[in-house]
Amino acid sequence: MQLTDPVEVIEGIGTKARAALRKQFGITTVGHLVEHYPRRYRDMGEVMDVRDVTVGEPATLIGTVIDWSQRRTSGRGRGRALTISEAKVRGAGGGSFAVTFFNQPWQQRKLPPGVTAAFSGKVETFRGDLKLTTPEVQVLGGRDLDGIEHQRLLPVYPATDATPDWRLAQWIEAALDQLPPFPDHLPERLLDEQDLVTLDDAMRGIHLPPDRETAAAARRRLVFDELFTLQLGLQWRRAKLESELAGKANTPTAGGRADAFLASLPFAPTGAQSRSFDEIAGDLSSDRPMHRLLQGDVGSGKTLVAVWTMLCAVDNGRQAALMVPTEVLAEQHLRTLTEQLAPLGVNVLDGLRVELLTSSTTTTNKRRILGELLAGGVDLVVGTHALLEEGVRFADLGVVVIDEQHRFGVSQRVALKEKGSAGGVDLFDQRERLPDVLVMTATPIPRSLALTLYGDLDVTVLDELPPGRKPIVTQLITPAEPARREKLYGFVREQAAAGFQTYVVCPLVEDSDALAATSATAMHRHLADEVFPDLTVELVHGQMRSDDKDAAMQRFRRGEAQVLVATTVIEVGVDVSNATVMVIEDAERFGISQLHQLRGRVGRGADRSYCVLFAGWNTDELTEDASERLAAVAATTDGFELAEKDLEIRGEGQLFGAKQSGLPDLKLARLQRDHAIIVATRDLARAVVAEDPHLTAPANASLRAEVLRRYEGGLDDFAALETG
Ligand code: ADP
Ligand code: MG
Repeated sequence: MQLTDPVEVIEGIGTKARAALRKQFGITTVGHLVEHYPRRYRDMGEVMDVRDVTVGEPATLIGTVIDWSQRRTSGRGRGRALTISEAKVRGAGGGSFAVTFFNQPWQQRKLPPGVTAAFSGKVETFRGDLKLTTPEVQVLGGRDLDGIEHQRLLPVYPATDATPDWRLAQWIEAALDQLPPFPDHLPERLLDEQDLVTLDDAMRGIHLPPDRETAAAARRRLVFDELFTLQLGLQWRRAKLESELAGKANTPTAGGRADAFLASLPFAPTGAQSRSFDEIAGDLSSDRPMHRLLQGDVGSGKTLVAVWTMLCAVDNGRQAALMVPTEVLAEQHLRTLTEQLAPLGVNVLDGLRVELLTSSTTTTNKRRILGELLAGGVDLVVGTHALLEEGVRFADLGVVVIDEQHRFGVSQRVALKEKGSAGGVDLFDQRERLPDVLVMTATPIPRSLALTLYGDLDVTVLDELPPGRKPIVTQLITPAEPARREKLYGFVREQAAAGFQTYVVCPLVEDSDALAATSATAMHRHLADEVFPDLTVELVHGQMRSDDKDAAMQRFRRGEAQVLVATTVIEVGVDVSNATVMVIEDAERFGISQLHQLRGRVGRGADRSYCVLFAGWNTDELTEDASERLAAVAATTDGFELAEKDLEIRGEGQLFGAKQSGLPDLKLARLQRDHAIIVATRDLARAVVAEDPHLTAPANASLRAEVLRRYEGGLDDFAALETG
């Protein structure tokens, strides 16, 4: 038998089972089947012979069900009626015993006469017969009973009704019996160094562990493989990009515009910002393309770093592009840039040329901007996905900054990089030259996740907020305290009188029959007409025409409106330092990172700010997850702490959304639990690729094959590495 054989070579797998395996688990080969790992193990304790048991002690007995009887007690007094099901079981080594369940009539379906199972529980006697009451049951089906008596830990597999656990166990065991030893793709030296068991031991140990230690060692080895091959793939891909595609040096120059910009600021950069300049300067000066992630909590001042980086390109006679996920954000960035760069001169003779390109840009304007980008007349362009369209070409694009990276797919990240330059072919070495890329994210990603997702990026962290920020006060208001809503409205009015502004965020644009939640449109009407007739209340949502949206944002930004009702269009980046109150309706509908982002819209100035979470006003009951999320957000404003919490509550599955992130599924690895292995494999992978960038050394042949085997078609197609 071979790993590549179809599953039907295993005895007992017919057409029906084959179809079920494929449909339910995507398993078509023996190799897939043995990579269907147990979720956990059930400890059967010591399996005993019926004749050796001690009454009153726990035991595990194996036997075959003979028949069932069922009766119902009448509900006497205040007691409820009970259904009692009792099976007669013939012990595997002779003798018999009874098994009783209360109110679990389905046990009879799960254990029809003729089925063999292991029953664990306390042994009792009833009228001279041995009996186990509501024992733990492990169906053994047709498994070899001799083997099982020596195996205390039974694997529990992800299973379905059509493909039950014990069948999977049986097939996997049969496959492992007939497969030759698994060849190891890791060199022995590495196994020793990392204290890992061989692949063969691991594959057998994870399915049929004699004890917990063996299971743990097997898991550790397999997790190592998953993460090591992933990291190798990432580093390898990066090495390939770097070798084929040279970058452009955008060396920071003394006395240039980047310097002038810093000198013109009314404040000094934070320590973290200064450190990031140093790190980025190193990348910019090299003619390898920069590939760096700038991570920093909301309000940590990423924009400043972005502007500085872009000006370095301009100082080198090149252009820079800033790509953001929404129009609102693009418009705001343009405004910030125009204001911040005003001392250097913007769109005036001799000044910087700055343009905005979004899908709302008029055709005439767009034609003009495209022409000037190509001719080199524009220095800085801010835009949305529109920057990625066909037809957007640059004379010489030096730096690309991508804001809120998590909102763009991996492929889009690559697309902008490939916009390269119009005259991009260097006549001397005939290679396309790539711009330097800085990716920014305000969604703090737990370190473990950053290493996994961005194993191929360098990471700079802005771990310091500008001085003078006061922590935001966060409060949760449930319908149990309806009076607090009135009180809050009073507070909003007081803040308005003091010159401060309030956001009110709602989950829906319009009222909906399908979803009981507050809509921004209805809330706007209510607040404007009934609650704050004396104030100006604006409305912004994603379905408004872009110039209306812009005008409303403008009025709020200029302080002409005291309250802004919005959907999550304002989630990212919107920066109005006068806003001090963030009210979130139906807060249970938002995820942790969304709540954190929304809250980050206030507390941007030196004044005390507040975040109020209304929760449970449109639902009967908060789920446990929702309560945990809200409690976490109320408890801390530290984005990294919240990100870890988020990971804990949601698990990686959802964070990855494999397709979305371009990341392959990790079967066993868990980001938090396996953090140490993530770090170790990343470092190892870097070392391997540093020495052998294309994994062509004979010593790395099996590693290379393993990476390609695992990620065939995944992760921007590692397989292309081989042919490309
Ligand atoms: P982020 O994009 O990381 O959320 P921003 O770049 O929007 O943060 O910065 C938040 C606010 O802090 C802005 O109003 C910005 O002008 C201000 N800011 C940035 N750096 C500093 C600094 N070093 N000192 C004081 N204020 C700063
Ligand atoms: Mg920002």
